[in-house]
Amino acid sequence: MKYVDEFRRHDLAQKLSSDIKREANPDRQYNLMEFCGGHTHAIFRYGVHNLMPSNVKFVHGPGCPVCVLPISRIDNAIQLVQEHDVILCSYGDMLRVPASGRKSLLKVSAEGGDVRMVYSTQDALKIAHDNSDRQVVFFAIGFETTTPPTAVAIKQAQAKGLKNFSVFCNHVLTPAAITNILESPEVREMGSVLIDGFFGPSHVSSIIGSQPYEFFAEEFQKPVVIAGFEPLDVMQSTLMLVRQLNEGRHDVENEYTRVVSREGNGKAKSMVADVMELRRSFEWRGLGMVPYSALQIKKQFAEFDAEKRFDIESIQVSDVKGCECPRILRGVKKPTDCKLFGTVCTPENPMGSCMVSSEGACAAYWSYGRFTQKEQESVA
Ligand code: SF4
Repeated sequence: MKYVDEFRRHDLAQKLSSDIKREANPDRQYNLMEFCGGHTHAIFRYGVHNLMPSNVKFVHGPGCPVCVLPISRIDNAIQLVQEHDVILCSYGDMLRVPASGRKSLLKVSAEGGDVRMVYSTQDALKIAHDNSDRQVVFFAIGFETTTPPTAVAIKQAQAKGLKNFSVFCNHVLTPAAITNILESPEVREMGSVLIDGFFGPSHVSSIIGSQPYEFFAEEFQKPVVIAGFEPLDVMQSTLMLVRQLNEGRHDVENEYTRVVSREGNGKAKSMVADVMELRRSFEWRGLGMVPYSALQIKKQFAEFDAEKRFDIESIQVSDVKGCECPRILRGVKKPTDCKLFGTVCTPENPMGSCMVSSEGACAAYWSYGRFTQKEQESVA
């Protein structure tokens, strides 16, 4: 743990806090969006927001893969189990996200549906191998970080000649979502008041590199700093954003140089490009239909595409009444603005996706920030 501990040192955190307080101009606000749920989690877990001056605010973004999946896609997954009798495999958090009619994959499992939690695509492949008389579908979700293993699984299934394995592909893309947030009327109308700069994702950027953020940093004139997930990473990145804003710059800078390069991971990117291509449009919870913001399986791998194999149709579903997840994901509300927070909605009984995953803003508030006023005020 020595290497990690170095990024949690108390004395360095105090020094960075002093630097930020000294350099932040008291005559202006610094509203900084952490796109990634991992940063939200780190900020609350380590109390980073408590070390900031009052004019440096963290705004939570949509970077939690479980949170942004619309209810309709979970309904589709439930249909696969109930109407097509498949073995549905997915990562743990996904099983608890509420679908229509207060259902969830966990409840479907309790009612006898064959839903299995897996830790990797390799687990799903093994289940397919061991159950050759059943159709096995991997419910693939996530940003650019989890896409390469899905692409590898499809290629492996092809190489092994597995005829009973397919993927329900819900992989989404980060730069398109950030662009959509900056173009949304709520953000545009408030101009630079709402979001002044971005913390770029850590793990996603290890795959795609820092280069894809250069377009919108220039187009929208917002600085981006790729930040690691440890508390000192977040604080150092905050200082870098404050300095850029003070100097009127809007560059893409990389604090997470120990992992992220400008080009990213060429091998992973080319594996994904072999198997997947851009979708024309995809629905995000909170953002609506976002053009070219997700991936679909290419025609030459169609036999492994669950949407084709089972003829999955898109469904129109309303969000849960009273749940503020859509606005929280756009960064215009905070969890405590939701009337259901901590009353009807808790991690044991989540009403919306943001309360399910530990990367969700509501879950982070609930776990670390619900007892103190400072936390309640920390997000504009
Ligand atoms: S507290 Fe629950 S209901 Fe409210 S926004 Fe968060 S997830 Fe949705």
